[in-house]
Amino acid sequence: MSLPEVEISSRGAKRLRAGHVWIYRSDVIDSQADAGDVVRVVTRHRSGGRNVLGVAFYNPESLICLRLFHRQDSEPDIPFWRARLKAAFDWRKRIGIGDGLGRMVYAEADNIPGLIIDRYEDVFVLQTGCAGADRLLPLWVDLLKELLQAKVVVERNDTSVRRLEGLEKRSGVLAGQLEGPFQVKYGGMIWPVDVLTGQKTGMYLDQRENHLRAAEFAKGRCLDVFSYQGGFGLHMARGGAEQVTLVDQSEKALTAASETAELNGLKIETVAGNAFDFLREQQSQGARYDLISLDPPAFAKNKHAVEKAYRGYKEINLRAMKMLEPGGLLFTSSCSYHLPPEGFEQMLEDAAMDAGRDVQIIERRFQSGDHPERVAFPEASYLKCFILRILS
Ligand code: SAH
Repeated sequence: MSLPEVEISSRGAKRLRAGHVWIYRSDVIDSQADAGDVVRVVTRHRSGGRNVLGVAFYNPESLICLRLFHRQDSEPDIPFWRARLKAAFDWRKRIGIGDGLGRMVYAEADNIPGLIIDRYEDVFVLQTGCAGADRLLPLWVDLLKELLQAKVVVERNDTSVRRLEGLEKRSGVLAGQLEGPFQVKYGGMIWPVDVLTGQKTGMYLDQRENHLRAAEFAKGRCLDVFSYQGGFGLHMARGGAEQVTLVDQSEKALTAASETAELNGLKIETVAGNAFDFLREQQSQGARYDLISLDPPAFAKNKHAVEKAYRGYKEINLRAMKMLEPGGLLFTSSCSYHLPPEGFEQMLEDAAMDAGRDVQIIERRFQSGDHPERVAFPEASYLKCFILRILS
């Protein structure tokens, strides 16, 4: 077989055998391959014997040198990748995404490292976050056309993680035609979505199931802090809230939210500004709410930032808890991978204590089922969305 080989240390081999799929540069012993190559991963025993651990994407320019996707010694061909995509798509079909909105492929968690495919009805948005997946971009487009009859395919490869892989930033239409925002159906509403310039690939699809839950619980005066285009807030309005206020620093996101509200005959208020200042002022004015959602950006971008992030999360949660009526609900999210669920729960415990509120945990929710987590690969798990209820 013609695959180049990369030899890894016994420590690296142990990591792969334990179920992880990444090998860092420090565990690569020898390689003859180039960035983006598909390689055979091998390890040597002290006795001189040699073991093949599987097949991986290789990138010597990245700290994550190897991303394993197959635990057998065989060269992936087009039918191999077709089967991988199909398996991912079949799962989305089973969880009811059909031809609507959802993440169709979630990279390592779907055994296609680096590849993200988000679906917005007829429009598919790709991100290729590692050199191996990036090199296969034309194949992904072809297979999307073949398997899902994709009409429009867009790439949003303008993310900063690409720099870590030595890949340039790019975005644009790869197939079909798309000029600007278009409308999709979501949660019984019509939403304009801009996959070319919106945050992420246009929407926060990872919160989809949590948005729908917020619609079910909406009541009275509701507040959506760090709202973006109103993923939570518009669902609250749709769910029957009396009053909904969205807060975000992005005027553009709030304008989009107001347009969506109008399009659906819903009433919302928007406040453009810093959420920390808003919460502080509201609390000092004695504002009261029945439902609050907090969905900040990742405060802990790396493990060194966790302590500071913890204080940030605690501050906003404490203020929200203080402003909730007895019986009120808090949807509180964190997308910091570096703050795992236990740490997040500890933060909520500290916030409740300092707020002097008696608090129930109603639901511990995570990213939607189209963003599957993966055993022995914690890196795929990042989003927490807990529902709390204030007793008194
Ligand atoms: N809740 C949204 C996603 C929120 S993403 C949804 O479910 O669709 C985080 C949002 O926080 C972004 O829109 C960003 O513009 C906003 N943001 C980041 N820092 C902020 C700050 N200090 N004050 C207000 N908004 C902020």
